[in-house]
Amino acid sequence: MRYPLACPDITESEIDAVVSVLKTPHLSLGPKLPEFEQKFAAYCGARHAIAVSSGTTGLHLIVRSIGIGPGDEVITTPFSFVASANAVLYEQGRPVFVDIDRNTWNIDESRIASAITTRTKAVLAVDVFGMPADYDRIRGVAEPRGLRVIEDSCEALGSRCRGRMAGMLAEAGVFGFYPNKQLTTGEGGMIVTDDDHLARLCKSMRNQGRDTDGGWLAHPRMGYNYRLSDINCALGIAQLDRIEQLLAVRRRTAGWYREELGDDRRVRFQAIRDGVDMSWFVLVVCLTDEYTVDDRDRILTGLRDRGIGCSNYFAAIHLQPYMMELFGLKRGDFPVCESVADRTVALPFQKNLARGDVATICHEFRQLL
Ligand SMILES: *Cc1c(COP(=O)(O)O)cnc(C)c1O
Repeated sequence: MRYPLACPDITESEIDAVVSVLKTPHLSLGPKLPEFEQKFAAYCGARHAIAVSSGTTGLHLIVRSIGIGPGDEVITTPFSFVASANAVLYEQGRPVFVDIDRNTWNIDESRIASAITTRTKAVLAVDVFGMPADYDRIRGVAEPRGLRVIEDSCEALGSRCRGRMAGMLAEAGVFGFYPNKQLTTGEGGMIVTDDDHLARLCKSMRNQGRDTDGGWLAHPRMGYNYRLSDINCALGIAQLDRIEQLLAVRRRTAGWYREELGDDRRVRFQAIRDGVDMSWFVLVVCLTDEYTVDDRDRILTGLRDRGIGCSNYFAAIHLQPYMMELFGLKRGDFPVCESVADRTVALPFQKNLARGDVATICHEFRQLL
């Protein structure tokens, strides 16, 4: 590929940080773990940050900690990475999908109330592509009914909503550090919360159910090995040290794409709500309704033939084979989500792109439209 879709931003400082951990005896549960957690908590303005092995395992721990169990319903979005719905399945809960807003591509807050039943326990919203969902509205519906609210902020590190950091807009948030995310540790994740009880449970369960003041073989509760090694934590610290730089490159590149494509009537960008300061995860445009899914797929193939990395982003969760089978879901159930999912095109979005590269990519893209 002439222009890969994504590429991690790694410098000598990350390489040195990882190598220096390898020269110590503390490859896991060493000093880099609390250092990463403390720095991350400070960045997000959280009382607690708990490092975990992935965004997915972080979501699982939150779902389990708030007591989601067999048959419990969790309202969530079908337009997300599958992990947000799977976290509910891991505890035998039922993800109840609510269609999305056609402009923000986040869960349509106005439809949440009508999806609530006597079995509903929580709302798990997703900050799609970095754009925080409207938690004021979600909490307004959820809290009077005693529902818990969870934020999947895996794609939104560094986004702010009226000055508050993404991840801190609900009871607990979670970030993912896979190589295409704003910050990477190779694999990894981080739970953030102000809730002491939730934090204690998550911390214990990521480490085999141990308590911090107990012994190595004392397990007051069932847990998992969802730890993040000191090697990964050192990489995360080095990335966090230059997070403003990492985010600025993304912001600048997104600005170039908006200059190139912002006035083109054949595509639309995700609407950014008032008060949101956006941290860009991917560069996704949505073709207008005149285009079919076949048109979109033809465009993706054409881009790849020209050496331009691209993808559809996301595929609707409710149309994944196992989801259809488990819950009897089908095409037509969430028409707004399907309409967006059928028309998205993610374009190359990484630090190696210069202004001229974005112009070239957009020129080729327009020719295929
Ligand atoms: C990346 C991502 C996750 C999961 O993160 P992993 O670290 O890959 O497990 C969860 N939800 C969303 C919306 C994501 O984009």
